[in-house]
Amino acid sequence: MEQLIDAYQRKIDYLRISVTDRCNLRCRYCMPEEGVKNLSHKQILSYEQIVKIVKRGAELGIEKIRLTGGDPLVRKNIAQLVAMLKKINGIKEVSMTTNAILLTDYAVELKQAGLDRVNISLDTLQADKYQEITKVDAIDKVKQGIKTALEYDFKPVKLNVVLLKDFNDDEVFDFIDLTRRFPLHVRFIEWMAFNDTAGNNYLSIDELKAKLEQKITLESIDLKSGNGPARYYTFDDCKGSVGFISPVSNHFCDSCNRLRLTADGKLRFCLCSEQEIDLLTDMGQVDTRALKNKFKYAIENKPDAHELKETENNALESMSQIGG
Ligand code: SAM
Repeated sequence: MEQLIDAYQRKIDYLRISVTDRCNLRCRYCMPEEGVKNLSHKQILSYEQIVKIVKRGAELGIEKIRLTGGDPLVRKNIAQLVAMLKKINGIKEVSMTTNAILLTDYAVELKQAGLDRVNISLDTLQADKYQEITKVDAIDKVKQGIKTALEYDFKPVKLNVVLLKDFNDDEVFDFIDLTRRFPLHVRFIEWMAFNDTAGNNYLSIDELKAKLEQKITLESIDLKSGNGPARYYTFDDCKGSVGFISPVSNHFCDSCNRLRLTADGKLRFCLCSEQEIDLLTDMGQVDTRALKNKFKYAIENKPDAHELKETENNALESMSQIGG
């Protein structure tokens, strides 16, 4: 079988697909304050188009798919897409990143469709702070969504916590406590300065680790799931793990194995670069014949590394537009 190996000898086997640019939250760091103009339904890839793209990708060695957005659960019949992707030859895993507000509503369908696992985003455990950062009063639904994910065994259940100085750095031990009570994998992620007008929220993973290590002894472990950017640790009575993702202070570009597909059909080479190639023709159809070559073009042009700055506005678009 053909493989996608880029100019820096990285094997690309992972595609993150943004299935919608719409989200039921308005997280301050993810979406510009003035909002964004949503794509029209006609501009968004249909499920059939996504399947065509993934089939060609799978022939070239794409094995893992992550559905993201916007929020993937706001797209109608998302479980149907999961089932369609799971049937594609060569696709070994389909996972999802979500804010989990709708997870309890769709868990049965998603399980039946074959969804392998979920990552849930939650930056605070306090209701008032949740509303402050997301502009929506929904923390109870998210907490229920986490319980549902554990009950339905979307294993391993990972919690993504964007580390925000002066916002949630006082809650880090509360998140650590969750890993004592539940088999959860709590991952702290450095905030990336993308279109965030609310000031500098950056706090490095090194600073966080130093704070944690005053109270707990972290022992490095190899979490046998995915080969993403997180470094995982355990401690005495931990039932899950603690993960650290440091895109700013210590980027992981040399092991990057991914490409991104935007909701409107652009293959993006790197989160932090605007380079992309349109997979659609002028007619708005997926250019099936040219697809393999477009994948290869993306690989040939995938940048070596990004240089995210701690405070400057690094990207012209925010995560909600690119598809996180
Ligand atoms: N709506 C889904 C969710 O909430 O998980 C998926 C999309 S969201 C863009 C994916 C992840 O990107 C979330 O965990 C979010 O916290 C993270 N994210 C968004 N903007 C970020 C930023 N500026 N820095 C770090 N992480 C960010």
